[in-house]
Amino acid sequence: MKKRIGIIGGGAAGLFAASMFRKLSGNENVRVTILEKNSIPGQKLTLTGHGRCNITNRKDVSVLKDGYHEAGNFIYPALKEFSPEYTIGFIENDIGLKTKEEDNNRIFPVCDSAEKVRDALVSYISGITDIRCNSKVSSITKMDVFEVVTSERTYTFDYLILSCGGSSFPQTGSAGDSYRLAEKTGHTVIPVRAALAPVNADSGSVQNIKELSGVSLPAKVSLFCSDKKTASSDGEILFTGSGLSGPAIMELSREVPPDISGIKVYLELDLIPSLSDEQLDMELLKLINDHPDTKIVNLLAHYVPVSVAVAVSSVAGAEGLYAQGFTKESRKKLVREAKHFRVGIDKAPSIDKAYVTRGGVSLKEVDRKTMQSRKISGLYIIGEALDIDGISGGYNLQACMSEAYLAVKDVLACGK
Ligand SMILES: Cc1cc2nc3c(=O)[nH]c(=O)nc-3n(C[C@H](O)[C@H](O)[C@H](O)COP(=O)(O)OP(=O)(O)OC[C@H]3O[C@@H](n4cnc5c(N)ncnc54)[C@H](O)[C@@H]3O)c2cc1C
Repeated sequence: MKKRIGIIGGGAAGLFAASMFRKLSGNENVRVTILEKNSIPGQKLTLTGHGRCNITNRKDVSVLKDGYHEAGNFIYPALKEFSPEYTIGFIENDIGLKTKEEDNNRIFPVCDSAEKVRDALVSYISGITDIRCNSKVSSITKMDVFEVVTSERTYTFDYLILSCGGSSFPQTGSAGDSYRLAEKTGHTVIPVRAALAPVNADSGSVQNIKELSGVSLPAKVSLFCSDKKTASSDGEILFTGSGLSGPAIMELSREVPPDISGIKVYLELDLIPSLSDEQLDMELLKLINDHPDTKIVNLLAHYVPVSVAVAVSSVAGAEGLYAQGFTKESRKKLVREAKHFRVGIDKAPSIDKAYVTRGGVSLKEVDRKTMQSRKISGLYIIGEALDIDGISGGYNLQACMSEAYLAVKDVLACGK
């Protein structure tokens, strides 16, 4: 008797799971069906890494696990069993795409095409997997076996893998269905919010930065809630016109409280992180003394792009002023604005624009060694459906891969 396996959602995690069935099942009898609501699988996967697919990250798993925030300990066994080295081996040897390593240990396919990754996965599983597109799952029930209802028909499975994603980028298909299906089957869902998302500035701050759209620079960023520093990050920031993006901002976005009405929330940007306040003050004093006929904005432009120097000088009240006659008090104010530039936030980052979802099925209800639900035997939950979000750099796809491996290994071992 063949094991009937249903995979709900043909995104990254679902395609990886089907791939693992092909890789690990050998001669064992399995019948794998993917139910995917879109007309083609893996839509979000094709967007990854700006269309190039940052498939994993070659850091040692003891370091990698810290990139999953509170879920680091939960995911550690999965990473140890199916590490980035295995992912690279699978991508190169099984689906046939050579990989390359870029900065910060990020791994991409040499072809630089996320679409080719998706297509290679689909082609790899096609012999063993029945991919049913346009099949939106609306309910799951379990008596002896699983009954899975789609708009078309009802399916019966012995094992089920729930992998229909999170809530971010809903136009790709991941519109929160995992959470609804998990809740209906008795699971707790930790409230979802944006992670790895751009941040919008409040209207006052937009006035200060609207001319900077498209400008990027390295900075140190701190998040303040009710005047208390709650998180910080270092790296590239990008001014977007309506707010901020770039790796350092996106990293912090998961820490912005979901409801900030009535709370004072702002980002503080250190736009010249290589110098302390005192060092910058001393250097500016020297420049002012050496170049009395130069405008302050041009002196500040020694450290930051001209457009940023204009914005900072304007907020500091130094717009149009020359070095000659620039008072100590004005200099201190300029240093303060350059090192502690405030951008107010009046709403939480949008989940629609987030790369990943924070929150999801509670990890307390999932066995971290198998990904099996502790509530319903035979049900496995993987991918963004879970309350796991990784930092950028290939962490989120690696999580899908490692979790898929554990789930498939367990399904194949069941009944042996
Ligand atoms: C723009 C962008 C860039 C990214 N870049 C990277 C990167 O370079 N590296 C990285 O590691 N991570 C990256 N990520 C994150 C990564 O794409 C996700 O973590 C990953 O796709 C999650 O996989 P998943 O299978 O859980 O969900 P998804 O990939 O979202 O797949 C879920 C699937 O389930 C289907 N589905 C939903 N509901 C139902 C239903 N009711 N019935 C049937 N099917 C359903 C959806 O249509 C979808 O195909 C990026 C994300 C975005 C948005």
